[in-house]
Amino acid sequence: MRLLMLARNAGLYSHQRLVEAAEQRGHEIDVYDTLRMYMNITSHRPEVRYQGRVLDGYDAIIPRIGASITGYGMAVVRQFEMMGVWSVNESVAIGRSRDKLRSLQLLARAGIGLPVTAFAHDTRMTDDVLDIVGGEPVVIKLLEGTQGVGVVLSETRRSAKSVIEAFRGAKVDILVQEFIKEAGGADIRTIVVGGKVIAAMKRQGGEGEFRSNLHRGGAATKIKITPEERSTAIRAAKVMGLNVAGVDLLRANHGPVVMEVNSSPGLEGIEETTGIDVAGQIIDFIEKNYATSKTKTKGR
Ligand code: ADP
Ligand code: GLU
Repeated sequence: MRLLMLARNAGLYSHQRLVEAAEQRGHEIDVYDTLRMYMNITSHRPEVRYQGRVLDGYDAIIPRIGASITGYGMAVVRQFEMMGVWSVNESVAIGRSRDKLRSLQLLARAGIGLPVTAFAHDTRMTDDVLDIVGGEPVVIKLLEGTQGVGVVLSETRRSAKSVIEAFRGAKVDILVQEFIKEAGGADIRTIVVGGKVIAAMKRQGGEGEFRSNLHRGGAATKIKITPEERSTAIRAAKVMGLNVAGVDLLRANHGPVVMEVNSSPGLEGIEETTGIDVAGQIIDFIEKNYATSKTKTKGR
């Protein structure tokens, strides 16, 4: 195959591993900076260019679109889709998973377990918003946050209200969530590839930290997940339409709840923790599917 990876930084562990896995299997793979690709948008011959060269002849693309360039990155992926190039994750699916509200609504519609979540733009009915999620303690989070930044636990109404007012004063959108205390500061990261969970790890936040993000000093261990957790992760990826996804779950008293579905999951933590060749399995999946799987949405 001739593969193209869309990534800002070819040096990242995840990107290097995907290149390594592709080359080990005898494929050609280029890695170009998404932001340096440009396009002509015409109905008869859509193109993507890079350094004056037309990017054509690829069998599949691997989008590794960072959260900060979602809009432009999705447009580039969409352009490849319009050209009939298969993307391992489609632009529409990436867009769904990147929008926390949209993804929560889609997951809820599919009956997937979620923390009770409320969202409001206006702050005038904050008491009612807090009551909807069952009252304090609540988790308040920035809609655009990543790596646990902008995720706050409020134990009292007073603090919850002042956090909400501060966020709204800064003109950022937030959501308010029931606090899953019994998760004990841990979450489960599963990697779903082609409708199967291929790896799972537990991440435990540091002492006194309810956020389990590894970037915040959380520690990861291998874990055996339950059949219910497995099926929840698989369904969540399917609802988003992602062939490759990192699905984060919390263990709630009433079963697994989905925290978030990631379209460009990091490979370092999961490969190091589990010893599983996740990059290799992603390339294997592409090999099996690029020729047969027509792009479903073509960006629609
Ligand atoms: P980010 O996308 O920035 O990582 P998350 O929404 O995943 O933000 O939250 C970061 C971490 O905080 C989660 O991995 C989890 O450990 C913890 N957390 C988030 N929301 C809740 C919640 N409602 N109840 C319990 N813990 C939570
Ligand atoms: N690498 C991060 C993770 O999966 C997030 C990547 C993304 O922005 O999708 O934990």
